[in-house]
Amino acid sequence: MNLKNFIIILLSIGLFHMFFGQSSVYGSETKTFTVLIDPGHGGKDPGVIWPDGSMEKKIAILYAQAFAKELQNQNISYIFTHVSVDSFVPIFLRLRKAKNSHANVLISFHANPVSSDSNVIQLFLNPDDSSSQFLTQVLKAELEKQNYTIITTPCNFAIIKMSPIPAVMINLRAGKSVKGIRYWLNPQLIGEIARGMARALKRFWLEEKR
Ligand SMILES: [Zn+2]
Repeated sequence: MNLKNFIIILLSIGLFHMFFGQSSVYGSETKTFTVLIDPGHGGKDPGVIWPDGSMEKKIAILYAQAFAKELQNQNISYIFTHVSVDSFVPIFLRLRKAKNSHANVLISFHANPVSSDSNVIQLFLNPDDSSSQFLTQVLKAELEKQNYTIITTPCNFAIIKMSPIPAVMINLRAGKSVKGIRYWLNPQLIGEIARGMARALKRFWLEEKR
């Protein structure tokens, strides 16, 4: 064996351990928890538009980005369903990402107009998936600690019902008026909700692991 072959073999052994050695030793203990964040709308699909021009996609993106930042603070990894944050991605491609990525849960963000200016966060869950139900309960509990009014609703939305991983949709119910949507656009409030949600995801992961 010449020196060159010897070095190649040494490097191969090193690489093998780098890729396979650690994971086989530590197994699931080092497994990361990853959240797939779906900003609901984007690109050519603006979602709902309020009288002042506020678009649902912009609101969803603001919350999705704040949530990503707070997940990072909790050492939770995340990926987005969208390649660039303000782009249109059909639902079947988002579901494919949920299937093919290593993400553990899917969180989708939306905002919808309601007749009264009731500032309520609605959580849509998959009634056929116990993990989706549990994730909803944990999110509800954390957001209620911050004095938000939370309602939970079983749904048949494809993004939730057909998701191969536990999924929950966050729907900010805003009044149809400008005042209604401005309530949810307060940066302090966005940060607070994102923080509560990230704490909930951490709790969900720790309790699901047991
Ligand atoms: Zn929507």
